[in-house]
Amino acid sequence: MLMNMKELLKVAQKNQFAVPAFNIGSGQILTAVVQSAEAMQCPVILAIHPDELSFLGDSFVESCKAEANAAKVPMVIHLDHGGSFEQVMRAIQCGFTSVMIDGSHLSYEDNIEITKKVVGAAHPIHISVEAELGTIGTTGTSAEGGASEIIYTDPKLAKDFVAKTGIDTLAVAIGTAHGIYPKGMKPKLRLDLLKEIRDVVMVPLVLHGGSSNADEEIAESVKIGISKINISSDVKAAYYKKVREVLKDNEGWYEPNAIYPPCIAAAREVIEFKMNLFNAVDKVKLYK
Ligand SMILES: [Zn+2]
Repeated sequence: MLMNMKELLKVAQKNQFAVPAFNIGSGQILTAVVQSAEAMQCPVILAIHPDELSFLGDSFVESCKAEANAAKVPMVIHLDHGGSFEQVMRAIQCGFTSVMIDGSHLSYEDNIEITKKVVGAAHPIHISVEAELGTIGTTGTSAEGGASEIIYTDPKLAKDFVAKTGIDTLAVAIGTAHGIYPKGMKPKLRLDLLKEIRDVVMVPLVLHGGSSNADEEIAESVKIGISKINISSDVKAAYYKKVREVLKDNEGWYEPNAIYPPCIAAAREVIEFKMNLFNAVDKVKLYK
């Protein structure tokens, strides 16, 4: 069931759960996400970052579309951190049903301008748009990057930004960073700030950099009103840990269908843990 983000998150927002957005990155991770979504009856977002799209090629989006159309679970194909108007247009052409335009590093006015331009092009063809205000941090370990200094989202500006741009979802910066936190780096989510933003912004809110944060804080953010949480590193880390183990234990192996099934299972364990944490399990019935 392929849909856009607005339709997908309307139900999540109303029923206080967050839909997980998993960065796909490879065919095996797509398999893991789709299998888990069906098994857990959990709506999912297939997120693809421009670097991932360059690696996978545009034709990979066709596989995502085929999976989403065949699935009985609501799915969105979402461009993560679109960096320019042109990148977003390419994604729409490929069949993404939702795009992010990330102008968070620009001035406030320029962020509004580029976001408005994307909304103007996307909305007439029913593609949803996510934008970001404030900056997500970086741990230096992920492809998504991020800012070395986190700028927390200002609630007043957030309200103004949503009104001026007409976006469907807003990514907020409340203290998370992309990637896995190195030892000694302790993220502290500003849940008080999230409440302030939630009080004045009506569109669904998105949490980036959701990997390796404290589970209690993530669960609390869902209760407060986060409707989409991006997970990339946690799934990939579990998957490749298993890949390394399998190859080490079976030096002569070279058949993908022997090597990858236990790795897909390892990814699924993390995926399904997150689905539970986000209160998103067994929510497919709400879309009927
Ligand atoms: Zn992100």
